Amino acid sequence: MSHSLEKIMASARQVSRAYRIEQGRNFRLKQISPGDTGGGVKNVVDIQWQAKTFLEFANARLTELQEKLYAQKHWSLLIVLQAMDAAGKDGTIKHVMSGINPQGCEVTSFKVPSGAELTHTFLWRCAQRVPGSGMIGIFNRSHYEDVLAPRIHPEFLQAHNLPPPLVTKNIWQERYEDINAFEQHLARNGVLILKFYLHVSKEEQKRRLLERINEKNKNWKFSEADLRERALWDRYMEAYEEAIRATAKPWAPWYVVPADNKWFTRAIVAVTVIDALEALYLKRPKVSGEIKKALLAARRSLKDEG
Ligand code: ATP
Ligand code: MG
Repeated sequence: MSHSLEKIMASARQVSRAYRIEQGRNFRLKQISPGDTGGGVKNVVDIQWQAKTFLEFANARLTELQEKLYAQKHWSLLIVLQAMDAAGKDGTIKHVMSGINPQGCEVTSFKVPSGAELTHTFLWRCAQRVPGSGMIGIFNRSHYEDVLAPRIHPEFLQAHNLPPPLVTKNIWQERYEDINAFEQHLARNGVLILKFYLHVSKEEQKRRLLERINEKNKNWKFSEADLRERALWDRYMEAYEEAIRATAKPWAPWYVVPADNKWFTRAIVAVTVIDALEALYLKRPKVSGEIKKALLAARRSLKDEG
């Protein structure tokens, strides 16, 4: 059955809100199934067979919102993407952000910290990449890596060479507190924060990794390190769950988006961004009387050029 794109948009908004966590205390990862496609939400319309058209429609909406964000220069938008390997971070950036003007957007991919990064506190490199007003910043991995990877691989924590008395069993709790304070500081200064955890299942990751091995033109995406991390799946899930529980806040909510179906993940991320930007009531700045006069004068002078 065909649905109008507006109707799908309204329905997808409802679905997106069902994945929003802004009070982490009672959250458990198992509450959201990686294979879910919104079926749990009342009156949800099926978007799968119109997913491509819908994404184009959503992208056009995003283009418009970004232009207003950029023109108004009050707010900025920070999108944080976290996930296990092959969950679809790259594809989400490519497909959801394709309507965005590159001039108003910066994507930063955070890898294992090295050199100067290791001599600074863990938030340092991320703080430098926070988008300025009017801009959209996308963190492909983020400061959240610092409560995930080093938790599972102590050598990453050792690499920071912190003073030993400061490395106690409370370190993760302290980092959550620092992250919350950092994000609240950003939110209080006009940075709208949306954090996405792309929730893929272990089985689907296996399928995608095999695809990278079996399909020649996907070989370049394969990394042996992915298998090493995959072997630690349960520990990563625990670390993710704990991080989300500790850092889901009204000013910086987490969206735990099912990621076994790419069309669904992309649609939900797009709609979430649209929903959040629309709530800002963005407007292009008002043109003052003086500027109107200047516009008329400029028009006249251009016409007079002959
Ligand atoms: P893709 O595989 O699609 O290129 P990716 O984000 O997985 O994207 P990789 O270069 O494969 O990029 O992996 C980056 C690695 O860096 C991840 O294993 C991640 O855990 C690690 N990493 C990022 N930040 C930190 C950090 N602060 N401490 C330790 N490890 C980190
Ligand atoms: Mg990788």
